[in-house]
Amino acid sequence: MNDTYGGKNVVITGGGSGIGFATAKLLVDAGARVVITGRSQTTLDAAAERLGTNALGVRSDVSALPDLDALAARVRDELGTVQALFVNAGITSAMPFASTTEEVYDESFAINVKGAFFTVQKLAPLLSTGAGVVLTTSAVNVMGMEGTSVYAAGKAALRSMARSFSRELLPRGIRVNAVSPGPVDTGILENTMTKEAADQFKAERVAENPMRRFGNPEEVARAVAFLAFDATYTTGAEFVVDGGMTQL
Ligand code: NAD
Repeated sequence: MNDTYGGKNVVITGGGSGIGFATAKLLVDAGARVVITGRSQTTLDAAAERLGTNALGVRSDVSALPDLDALAARVRDELGTVQALFVNAGITSAMPFASTTEEVYDESFAINVKGAFFTVQKLAPLLSTGAGVVLTTSAVNVMGMEGTSVYAAGKAALRSMARSFSRELLPRGIRVNAVSPGPVDTGILENTMTKEAADQFKAERVAENPMRRFGNPEEVARAVAFLAFDATYTTGAEFVVDGGMTQL
């Protein structure tokens, strides 16, 4: 425990697991108050309990605008102003483009792209001068990879949004950046594919990665905290955390 981020209020979408949870833990352990969101209140309550009294779980589906309006109202009541917003909720949809259905396409864009856009729009009024916004993109937004056309296109859209948001929010002294993870072992694959397919996908990622391993969520969390609070001369940028994968 330390007080590096004491007095800072943070909202993290998709904060009940994986990279979002690791970031919440890093920040709560450093004195911040954090609201984590997701689609299951039960999961969020369990996560908030593990984080301690400075964490609150609020059920809010990023693809449902009424949920985002309710989240903004709750955050205003609970936290007042916000000094860091981590727009992190997302799903993967790893499958060949030939077998990708309209339903998969629409859900991916509804959560990963539309959800991120309206999260920023609805919560921006609560951001204070000097606040940092971080959007989770993905290393695949800059490289081709089998089975990721829909997911990667959505993450490229987020990368682009970070640039435009950064221009529109700069007059208020708010910075907007993207964090771009490579393969991180979080369980996100297992949520949308069989264990066998996930294992094969993981083995391929390890083989092609210069560091020959997956990253862990804490390694991304440190980059997020840096971008949100410490990168005071950086906006509209992308911070890649991928073991060197996109440098090949
Ligand atoms: P994860 O599945 O643990 O986290 C995703 C979170 O988003 C979950 O908590 C989930 O409940 C939440 N979520 C999903 N749909 C939602 C919705 N409609 N509304 C609100 N919350 C929703 O996996 P993760 O790996 O920690 O993923 C976090 C982010 O990192 C995602 O945006 C993902 O695309 C991105 N990412 C992950 C990797 C990786 O290899 N794990 C690589 C690059 C980018």
